[in-house]
Amino acid sequence: MRQLVEVKVKPKSVKNITNGYPLLAKEAVETSGVTMDEGSILRLVDSSGRYLATAYYGLQNKGIGWVLTRKEQEKIDTTFFVKKLSAAVARRKNLYETKDTTAFRVFNGEGDGIGGLIIDYYDGFYVVNWYSEGIHSFREAIYQALNEVVSVRGLYEKLRFNTNGQYVEQDDYVSGEKGEFPLIVFENGMKYAVDLNDGAMTGIFLDQRNVRKALRDQYSDGKTVLNTFSYTGAFSVAAALGGAVKTTSVDVAKRSLPKTIEQFAVNEIDYEAQDIKVMDVFDYFRYAARHDLKFDVVVLDPPSFARTKKITFSTAKDYPKLLQDTLKITSDDGVIIASTNNASFNMKKFKTFIDKAFTETNTRYKILEEHQLPEDFTVPNNYPEFNYLKVVFIKVMK
Ligand code: SAH
Repeated sequence: MRQLVEVKVKPKSVKNITNGYPLLAKEAVETSGVTMDEGSILRLVDSSGRYLATAYYGLQNKGIGWVLTRKEQEKIDTTFFVKKLSAAVARRKNLYETKDTTAFRVFNGEGDGIGGLIIDYYDGFYVVNWYSEGIHSFREAIYQALNEVVSVRGLYEKLRFNTNGQYVEQDDYVSGEKGEFPLIVFENGMKYAVDLNDGAMTGIFLDQRNVRKALRDQYSDGKTVLNTFSYTGAFSVAAALGGAVKTTSVDVAKRSLPKTIEQFAVNEIDYEAQDIKVMDVFDYFRYAARHDLKFDVVVLDPPSFARTKKITFSTAKDYPKLLQDTLKITSDDGVIIASTNNASFNMKKFKTFIDKAFTETNTRYKILEEHQLPEDFTVPNNYPEFNYLKVVFIKVMK
């Protein structure tokens, strides 16, 4: 039986909860004397016992659980999940209907009303990401609901239970048709090869869709494009399809080479005419500077934290330096596409990093466009801090 626990919200956090803040922070509740298990339903009350909201308990790096409803009568059952999932699907009606895009996010956790649950769509297949054992304990009801709401060609899931959000290795196949991988999906007419059963990631980061489109449509024609931290080369493909004279992809992971070749190949791009380097980006900067290489467009999309044998890198600390290294190998009127998914700072702060990098090197610049999460990565109303993606297109004016 699922436990129902009454939990007191500390006075200073009551307003947060009644305003609709979805995340339950450890500091927000009185935990002494209460036992909560993963998946326990929490009846959140104020100090006088008045009902505030219903949440579930599930440990994540961000907090101890998520608010599910502020209606006292609402039960957390299959009907509840059907309601949330169908609302999310309805919001993505356009994406479901668009033939030239067949991969997108269907359910974005707290933005769609259930923190800790992420569902992505890949050409009829669904990939469910469980971010805590707590939310995973609702698995049966959620799968029943999903099958009621949409027709599922095949189902895969990723367990991300570790409190640091790390993926738990397993066979991710759940039910329905078994995919043949690589599966080819479309994004604004571009093809991407994905594998839904090969570790935590699938081969493409769906949140960069609008950025890839902008890169292809407005920034690539006739240009040389350097894609750093390139992973499977998704940005390089967009640039090549947009008419780049040459792309260079740099990633330290050995697998990035065959994966990038594959992405070019499925788009019928001659990968031998492109440069794909398995290399530390920081070594590549030195190499490129030594050889006096300059690129018209540079894509910078580092992981929030990276540790190699030689260096530890954190975007929160080192982004200005990264931009300065990039500037040295960017053409005089080039464009830098600076991206970060570090949730610990916002767009305003990110722009101060950009400004610092350019001011310190006495280089003028102009911001051409900005992107945050695309429309299918729904963010809770009034809580922009959940909009972790920040991408700025910067025109260099040396
Ligand atoms: N820009 C990519 C996603 C990047 S994911 C895209 O849009 O698809 C981060 C990538 O950075 C990973 O592939 C990882 O292998 C790579 N990486 C991490 N540290 C690195 C380093 N020091 N040098 C080169 N690549 C690095």
